[in-house]
Parts: sequence; structure tokens; C-alpha cells
Amino acid sequence: MAQRTRIPLSVPAFLGREAEYVQECIETGWVSSKGRFVRDFEALFARLHDHGAAVSTGSGTAALHTALAELGVGAGDEVIVPALTFIATVNPVRYVGATPVFADVDPTTMTIDPAQVAGLVSPRTKAIVVVHLYGQPVDLDPILALGIPVIEDATEALGSAYKDRLCGTIGEIGCFSFNGNKVITTGGGGMLLTRDTDRLEHMRYLTLQAREPGSVEYLHGEVGFNYVLSNLQAALGLAQLEGLQDRLERKRAIHERYVEGLRGLPGIRVVTEPEWARSNFWLNSILVDPAVYGADREEVAARLDAEDIDTRPFFHPIHQLAPYREFARGPLPVSELLHDQGISLPSSPTLAPEDQARVIDVLRG
Ligand SMILES: *Cc1c(COP(=O)(O)O)cnc(C)c1O
Repeated sequence: MAQRTRIPLSVPAFLGREAEYVQECIETGWVSSKGRFVRDFEALFARLHDHGAAVSTGSGTAALHTALAELGVGAGDEVIVPALTFIATVNPVRYVGATPVFADVDPTTMTIDPAQVAGLVSPRTKAIVVVHLYGQPVDLDPILALGIPVIEDATEALGSAYKDRLCGTIGEIGCFSFNGNKVITTGGGGMLLTRDTDRLEHMRYLTLQAREPGSVEYLHGEVGFNYVLSNLQAALGLAQLEGLQDRLERKRAIHERYVEGLRGLPGIRVVTEPEWARSNFWLNSILVDPAVYGADREEVAARLDAEDIDTRPFFHPIHQLAPYREFARGPLPVSELLHDQGISLPSSPTLAPEDQARVIDVLRG
């Protein structure tokens, strides 16, 4: 029998000039926080988003922390967040000493439900962090209409768009991540966007230990962070970003094959984009209705695993996790249901159609 290789969930793909750029870092000695790739990566990132500038960070979590600090969020403030997300959306709220207020998500988009958000606003609400979960854009207009600063956690949504506006460019501040399995990777890294240039440069200052520029002295005007991206990471990032369009096309083709291949399969819903949005299909996901499908998502994962196929359960609702139970105000049924039914399927940009057909065949039984 022919050797069958395991199909991973999502692995980085190096399809461009990554090796050449990293080699240049080593040859020139510019491997740390200064060098041309940091500038070039930021510049290309900004240009792709129709912005004049962007600020790179050491991670997506660092970008979110910097954004909250920039908005002056602190002790006594409330920040509305979705319950269904990766914990790194919420931890920075605690880093600045504020209180997370969990909103449920919409069953169709899986992202924060605007009606819920409206009901949670209080005089202490200082910011709303929305998450374009698995690349699916949030319905932002009703949330923006509340008039409270919105931070977009666009860490999973590079290249996604809400009503023709790219995710991460719509709220007050947009935060991106380039960790190992995101749409593009720098090994680890992140980016900040905002239209307000003073704000952007102040965030740059915060990520650089708040060291006063233009002096040889070590003068620091605030408590800053060491949140910079290295030139080595930015070299990877630039090469990856140059291939973004190709990557997005590959992800969409994968999505279309799942939609086609799983069409009409009772009890399986392929999560897809609403008509007003464009997803990057970072992780293609399905919802398994056990009563109809005849197996729950854990059994589905076990069956796929037995066939050497990796999957991933949806994030655990944050209000049910140990560090956040004290902030829970009651059940959030949609987040909890989606967690029970959601599973992400192999979505690497290099996923071969014949491997994807194997995934579909196992699901079809
Ligand atoms: C990946 C991710 C982050 C954090 O990004 P890192 O670069 O891993 O720190 C934050 N929020 C969400 C929703 C993520 O998926």
C-alpha cells in the first residue's frame, strides 16, 4: 500500500522569496529590531490596506495589548468582547486591569452579535473588541453606530473584507497576527493599523519601550513595552505578504471544494461568508448537528484522526475558562452551541485537492 501522509490542519507555506530575504538578514547582520525588512514589511502592509503607515509588533497579542493601552483602557473600565474567540483576544483586557464583558455571537456569522453588544453597553464601557473569527467578518456597522471605540481583532482576518472595506481598517485600531498558522506567518508577529497618524506613532513609541526619540540618552516618557518585530521575522513577513493574493485564492478554492463536496450532507453545515462580506477562509469549518448527522463533532474528529487527518475543535467559550469564570454573567448559548458543534478542517494553502477529497470522503462516510 502506498504511504499515506498525515493531512495537517494548517501549516505555513513558503512559496516566495522567504529564504532569499532571510539570507540577506544573516549576510548583512541586520537580524534584530532595525533593518530594511521591518520598514518594507510595514510599508507593504500599509499600502495593501490603503494606509500611509503601519506598526509591526512581536505578536498579535502584543498588538491587542498596545491598542488597549493606547485607548487609555484601565482599571474600572469595561471592554465588551465576544465569548467565542481565542483567549488572546481577552487576556490583554486583563493586562490593562479592565473588566471583560462577554457578548454572545451570532449563530450564522459566528462573530459577535451587534444586538448583544448594544445591550451590554454601560457608562463604564471604554472599548469594544470585535473578532473576525476564522476569517469571517463581523457585522460592524451597527457596532460602530454605538459610538464607542472599536478595536478589530483581525488576527485571523488578513484579506477578509466587510462591505468592501478590509478587516482591520474599519474600527479605531486594527490588530493582526502572523503566528505559525495564520494566513501569513513571520514565525511570530503582529501589526497595528489606525487612520490616526498621531495615534499610530504613539503606538510605535509604546512598542519601543516608550523611549524618547532623537536623543542618545535613555529617556522614557511612559511605561512602554518591548513589542517589536525583528528584521528576521519581517523578512519572512515581506516575502509572505508579497504572495498574499495567491494565498487568498488558494484558501477560497479550498472553501469552494468543501462547499461542493459536502453539499446536501445532512447534519453538516459548512460555515460560509454572508453576502455582505468576503472571508479569507483562514480555517474552513463545519458545524456538526449530532442529532441529524448521527455523530457528534468529537466522533467526527476521531474518525478523521483515524484516517490521518488533523482537525481542531472550535475555541472554548472564554467565560467558561478558569481565569474568566468570575466575569461570566450567565450562559451564552450560541457560543456554547457553536463550541459543541464546530470543527475546523484542513485548510493549508498547499492542501492538495486529492487530500481534500479524502477529508470529504471520510465525512461523507
Ligand atoms: C492568533 C490570535 C491572536 C493572537 O495572536 P498571536 O500572534 O498568537 O499573539 C489573538 N486573537 C485571535 C482571535 C487569534 O486567533
